[in-house]
Parts: sequence; structure tokens; C-alpha cells
Amino acid sequence: MQRREFNQHLQRSAIALALAPWLRAVAAPADKPRVWRSNPFALGVASGRPRADSVVLWTRLLFGEEDRATGAEALRVKVEVFADAALKRRVQKTEIMTDDARGHSVHVHLQNLQPSTDYWYRFTQGDACSTVGHTRTAPALNADVRQLRIALSSCQHYEQGQFTAHAEIAKQALDFVLFMGDYIYESSNSQYAIRKHSGEEPKTLPQYRERYEQYKRDPMLQAAHAAHPWVLMWDDHEVVNDYANDMDRNYSDPQQFLLRRAAAYQAYFEHQPVLLGPDANNPANMHLYDQLSWGKLADVWTLDCRQYRSAQACRDPVRGGGRMVMQCDELNDPARTMLGATQERWLGDSLSQSKRQWKLVAQATQISPTNVPAPVGRSYWNEAWDGYPEARKRLLQTVVDAKLNNVVTLGGDVHCNVAANLRLEPNNPQSPIVASEFVTTSITSRGLGDKPAAVIRESNPDLLHYRSDERGFSLITVTPKEVRCDFRTTKFPAGVETGFKTQASYRVKSGKPGPQAV
Ligand code: FE
Ligand code: CA
Repeated sequence: MQRREFNQHLQRSAIALALAPWLRAVAAPADKPRVWRSNPFALGVASGRPRADSVVLWTRLLFGEEDRATGAEALRVKVEVFADAALKRRVQKTEIMTDDARGHSVHVHLQNLQPSTDYWYRFTQGDACSTVGHTRTAPALNADVRQLRIALSSCQHYEQGQFTAHAEIAKQALDFVLFMGDYIYESSNSQYAIRKHSGEEPKTLPQYRERYEQYKRDPMLQAAHAAHPWVLMWDDHEVVNDYANDMDRNYSDPQQFLLRRAAAYQAYFEHQPVLLGPDANNPANMHLYDQLSWGKLADVWTLDCRQYRSAQACRDPVRGGGRMVMQCDELNDPARTMLGATQERWLGDSLSQSKRQWKLVAQATQISPTNVPAPVGRSYWNEAWDGYPEARKRLLQTVVDAKLNNVVTLGGDVHCNVAANLRLEPNNPQSPIVASEFVTTSITSRGLGDKPAAVIRESNPDLLHYRSDERGFSLITVTPKEVRCDFRTTKFPAGVETGFKTQASYRVKSGKPGPQAV
């Protein structure tokens, strides 16, 4: 067997092993309480996927040098849930088994909870106890809700800044954090590094786990997870830059690439408070797109723009992925998709039927146009929705056909604060504004330079606000009357003690698509 083949074989076996436990109950181990020499809860705790009656709780046991797990050692983890911060009133207690096949991650689908209610939780294993996390359930489906507060965030390259934005997010009064992808970065760029990734570029499950461990050890990221439930979507860097479906930029053999993607998806699951892991029948697949409701006030969709998309149009034949493209007829091929047929149909159906006041469509990248004049015609960034104009038109046509007034899209990925009009025909003032877009800047990742950002801003009248120079997050406040966006920012690179200010604020009034400066 060639070394490469042998590695593939190992990966396949690892994935098969990883999935087997989902199909069976794990046998109970001997009951002697374990004595830990280092803190097994060093990666913190998290909660996510808030519903009126449930949330998902997460942690992952980490073994220090002196605590090495022996093979697939199964461990019993105790979970306690309280109705008060002082941990006096315990409302649930449960135990759950974990083992090495899932990286000793723990996912608890906590059910039978009360709507719009705060809960505190902690995990215990042997003589070790986790920090206490706080979470909160969604309102009842028929509740009149006065306000929904979200911290919209994305793109946290560990090397390119401190996670100060997360310390700031932890302090806010929020219903949930909406994180739209690039939670880890697989790649490095030493030019902009103020701290270093450990290990090389991850390609295997152990390597992806190591990368998540480094990120999750960050105390400010841990604070934001412990403070609020998170609603999560991935983008490309959770696997590799600019991948599309089964294709990476090097045009690797798709079967090979899907093994890498399966390892990355498995590691993603092991480190996030999400409900479902990779598909047992096909570990390279994982159903992450989702929809949640916030009383009568809002429906929120989180869309997967990576797993099912068509490859970028007019790619460089040697180095694929994102680039600016001109005179590219492929852009207009109606068969090209951003969401894949199944997700697109699901979104179209549930969006059309939504009766809630606001429809918040969260997706990983930017929908509004960023194309610029070129020697011939215009030049389009083929990675975002500008590279999928037919899919964008179908999405916005759904909004028009269903006569939806209050659609606001929320995005990330571009390391830029954006407030924009969404028209059926982008940048055409004759074409009506049918929806509104807010895109948040990155937590840390470097943005476009000032000059290209200025050219993009001046070339696209649909962009009301477009700034790539600062880092941070966006506070989204939803009331029956309006959706308000406050771009909360700090300088680049983000340091530990830098302060935050409001770069700009916009609002969308009910019944009137298009953001207005506040
Ligand atoms: Fe990014
Ligand atoms: Ca990205």
C-alpha cells in the first residue's frame, strides 16, 4: 500500500469507527470516580439551537498528558440544569456517555424546558467540574414578543487578532449569538499574524481536533459561549478556503476531498452545540441548515452556502476557488446553485408560508452586489452571490411572489460591514427594493484594503454602507416596528484591551424594505 493509500484507509476506518457509536448505546464503564490531574473541561461549555422547549448543551473532555485516555475509554458525564444563577434550584439532572469515537465530546439535547426562560448548567466528570454556562429558551410560538437581540458575528482567524469582540459579546444582553462561519481557519498568513496556529494545516480528524482545541482554549471565546446560546452556520474555512461542494481549489480528486470534508465536519460537530452530527450513511454529509421561530416576531433561517453549491464560475484552471471574473457567460447559467435544489426548495416553501412579522434569512456570505468596472463590462467576485446571480434572482423572486415585505438577510464572510438594498436587478434604481441586507465584519480576520473597498462602494449604488477597515460584530435588535443594526467595531488588529464603538447604525422599518441610516 502506498503511504497515501494507507492514510486514506486509516481515515476511512477512523470515520467508520467514529460513526458506529451513533447507532448503538455505549456500554457503561466501571463506576470508580476518576481523579483528574488537569482540567478536562479546558475547552469550556456551550449551548445552542434554542427552541421554546429545548436547547443543546455542549462540552468536550480534554485529556492532559497525565490523563491520557486509554483507547476508546467510555466516560460518564453528569449534567445539571438550574433555574437560578446561584445553582440552588436544580430542575434537571442527567448522565450521558461519551468516548473517543466522538472525541469525548458531549451533546445533551435538553428538553421539556419552559419558553423564554433562563437556565444555568454545568458538567461533572469524576472529581472535575466545568464552569457554569447560561442559556435561554426561545419564546412560545404564539407569544407576542417585544424584542429579539442578536449578536451577528463571523470570521475569527486566530492569528490575526485577539478575540476581544467575544469578551464584548459576553457582556451584552442577548437572546443568542448568530455565528455565520469561519469559526476556525485552516490556513496561515504570517504577514498578518500577531499569534500563531499550532500544528500544520489540518487535513485529518486529529488535526482538525487540534485546531479547534487551540481556538476553544481562548478565554474570551469561552466567555461568549458560556454567556449565551449560539446559533451556528459554517462557511469555507471550517474545511478549507473557497471549497465548493466536493471541489477544492487544487482540484483534488473529489473522493479524496470528501474524506477531508468528512473529517472536518466530524470535528465541527464534536466542538459545537449543534444537534446532528455527520450522516451515518454518508459521513461526508451533515445537515446543518435550519430554521427557528421567535414567538410571533420572527422566523430565522440559517443557510448552508458551501456543502451544496455549484463550483465557482470561470475559475482559474490551475488554481480554482474565488477570483474576480469578466465576460463570464457561465455566471448566467440558471442551472447553477448556491443552496442546492433540496435546500432551495425547503427555503422557498417555508419563506413563502412564514406568517411571522420579520423573516431573517441568515446565510454565510454577501447577497448584494460588489462588482466593479472592468476594461470590458464589469468584473464580478465569483465566491459570493454576485457569482451566483441566477440563484440570487430565484431567492428574491420568491420574496416578490409571496409578497413578503419584511425580509432582512444577515451575512458574514467578507470581513466588511455592509448595509444594502436588495433589488431583483442589482444596482438598477428602476428595479424595486424587495429586501434589506446587513453583513457583519469579522471578529479578527483582515479586511480588504481601503482602496479596493472604496472602488466597490462607489461602483455599487445598492451599497449604503461598506467598510472593511475595522473588526467586531453587529448588534441586531428586532422589534415589531423595525430591525436595527449597530455595527460595533474596534481597530485592526484587535488587541486585548481595545475599546468598542458604534461605526454606524441602520434600521429597516416594517413594511418598507431598504436600510435607512439612523
Ligand atoms: Fe472569513
Ligand atoms: Ca469565508
